[in-house]
Amino acid sequence: MRIVPRHGGWLEVVCGPMFSGKSEELMRRLTRATIARQRVELLRPAADTRHGPDELVSHAGQRMDGRRIADLDQIAALEADVIGFDEVQFFPEGIVDVIDDLTQRGVRVVCCGLDMDYRRRPWPVTQALLARAEFADKLQAVCLVCGGPATLSQRLEADGSPASDAGPTVEIGNGERYEARCRACFRSGA
Ligand code: ADP
Ligand code: MG
Ligand code: ZN
Repeated sequence: MRIVPRHGGWLEVVCGPMFSGKSEELMRRLTRATIARQRVELLRPAADTRHGPDELVSHAGQRMDGRRIADLDQIAALEADVIGFDEVQFFPEGIVDVIDDLTQRGVRVVCCGLDMDYRRRPWPVTQALLARAEFADKLQAVCLVCGGPATLSQRLEADGSPASDAGPTVEIGNGERYEARCRACFRSGA
């Protein structure tokens, strides 16, 4: 059980590799807040062009209304009790201060995002939010090689070999090129 702060807002971070159920968990928490008749907003980075502009879709097909945010200034004006962010690592770094202001104003913020990129480097935005969060959860996916708990996102070339470390950090919309792996089965690219 979680004892939540009595006064003011707080920050929850849900992180982990691709396919670990971050978006599902975000939707689960926001659905419960909606049932509690709270005002809920779900926001997505402008860079997330995988689905429609106004909808979040999980890997298992679960859907929830969630608009893309092109400008961080849009966020402060929202009237909400709970604000969820999907793929928070893809927002500009200014999002960390925006989220801090929201929690100071009494908003409950739930962020989900990748903790590490395909090279096992921490994403700066997620890292900063994890440090500030009242509550943090690390989810695990299933390793596609051994079936164990997966903490890493393996990027692959078309032939199945590990992608080069020299590739772009952000490569959205190419989900078939990634698979969840555990530490033992993860392979770094050259
Ligand atoms: P995330 O937002 O972390 O990328 P989603 O919440 O969109 O993940 O999707 C999680 C769902 O993905 C799981 O419930 C499961 O149905 C599906 N899935 C597909 N591949 C895997 C995997 N390797 N490990 C765990 N779940 C997977
Ligand atoms: Mg997701
Ligand atoms: Zn493994």
